[in-house]
Amino acid sequence: MKEGIIKQRTNFFLKALSYLDIHTHLRFKSENSIHVASLSMDEILQETTTCDYSCAGIHPWWFEEISQEEIIILKTHIENMAKNGKLWGVGESGLDRLYPEFLDQQKSLLDWHIDLAENYQLPLVLHNVRAGSDFLEILKKRAASVPWLFHDFRGNEELVKSLLKLHPGCYFSFGISLDNSPQIRELLPLIPLENIFLETDNQKHLDIHDIYLRAAEQLHLDLDFLKSQIWRNFQKITRSPQ
Ligand SMILES: [Zn+2]
Repeated sequence: MKEGIIKQRTNFFLKALSYLDIHTHLRFKSENSIHVASLSMDEILQETTTCDYSCAGIHPWWFEEISQEEIIILKTHIENMAKNGKLWGVGESGLDRLYPEFLDQQKSLLDWHIDLAENYQLPLVLHNVRAGSDFLEILKKRAASVPWLFHDFRGNEELVKSLLKLHPGCYFSFGISLDNSPQIRELLPLIPLENIFLETDNQKHLDIHDIYLRAAEQLHLDLDFLKSQIWRNFQKITRSPQ
């Protein structure tokens, strides 16, 4: 029994020291990092999970390349994976106003993802490009009980406040924008620390270690403190095993 406790503590200690990448499409792992992987179409079709934690969803960009029939097939596999406990979260799903021709389809598919996340009580990973007001409208119409994680968040402080007011379980993740966007660097310290995550997304040349360093610098925090805070955030939103 003692050994069990020691093992548990050691696991937590190791985790506390590692870098959590909350959203990535890459399968390369930098040293001492733990990933939440967004599964590719092929991975979903084979129902394989490759990383530490997995998310499955139909990305709004996929509309350009897949048919309605393929969407139905993907939905079946995603639901199976959720049912079989293979998923940490649902997504990425969302709205991208740079593709207005698919907006109606994106909205109805987003509804499907929201329902799935609610049914299985899993966090929902969201893609939002110029659609902040659409998400506010959705939250005004329906209550959310699971965490909503806006990845690569590009909104402003007002949007953060409005989202948190409607759904306190909203979280915001940052990656490449800490390198290339002065507005996002200024926004970061204005977000509650309990609602922040960091990610590599699909940026091949971005190292999660560097993103943590950037964020720690911007937040005037010790790097280890930031890492353990992000693990605490992760524990809070992760569904505990039944
Ligand atoms: Zn992504």
